[in-house]
Amino acid sequence: MNFYILTLFPEMVEAGLSASIVGRAAKKGCIRIETVNIRDFSLDRHKKVDDYPYGGGAGMVMQAQPIYDAWRFVKEKAGAVARTVYLTPQGRTFTQAEAKTLADGENLILLCGHYEGVDERVIDEIVTDQISIGDFVLTGGELPAMVLVDAIARMVPGVLSNETSADSETFEDGLLEYPQYSRPATWMGRDVPEILLSGDHASVDRWRHEQSLQRTMARRPDLLARAKLSAEDRSFLGLPQEEPHA
Ligand code: SAM
Repeated sequence: MNFYILTLFPEMVEAGLSASIVGRAAKKGCIRIETVNIRDFSLDRHKKVDDYPYGGGAGMVMQAQPIYDAWRFVKEKAGAVARTVYLTPQGRTFTQAEAKTLADGENLILLCGHYEGVDERVIDEIVTDQISIGDFVLTGGELPAMVLVDAIARMVPGVLSNETSADSETFEDGLLEYPQYSRPATWMGRDVPEILLSGDHASVDRWRHEQSLQRTMARRPDLLARAKLSAEDRSFLGLPQEEPHA
């Protein structure tokens, strides 16, 4: 999978994505991350990429032309590009389900805004999806782009060394993940739950599932309302059974 990141600050994105699991995946060739400096496409002799907003107001707006030309450059290079995502606090909130869907494409373009944002006309022209990473405002789209690349890359085969490790994780089945423990068995007087040392895999699985259910109920009841729960799950949580559909 190829990620093309249109940004005014490529060094920020490159530094953030060159380390750890994502960085290793790029080195192995499971994913490719290319940053494109929007400033390189400015036709202004001072390489200016922003200007005052029409109608007045604070701050500067990123101009349409350099963004459009940077995007055309990527389109011509990449061939089939299904989606161009603009990172914006005005977009729909990014989720694990969205990460999975976006991981299905071969090429993904991410546009990072800065300052007061981007001239609306270039958004209308090139953007297929507007995505937010949460209800807060950051100075630029670079951190949100990194968040998307990290979450999407984890879905690409070969990126995680243990293919199954993504399966049981938080959100994968609509529930939060169970608590995890590692050595030693006792730390600061706190013991690892006995069941995890039993070697009884069926009991461990059951315990973990119950922990997931309890955690989700306590911390994110909104998720529980949408999760697929069995009749046993419902009785474990003390929830009423669903009426059979007529
Ligand atoms: N004036 C814009 C508004 O009110 O919607 C906010 C602009 S923000 C200061 C600058 C850039 O940061 C945006 O163009 C966007 O690319 C990025 N950004 C800020 N917060 C974000 C968020 N929560 N999710 C995704 N991108 C964000």
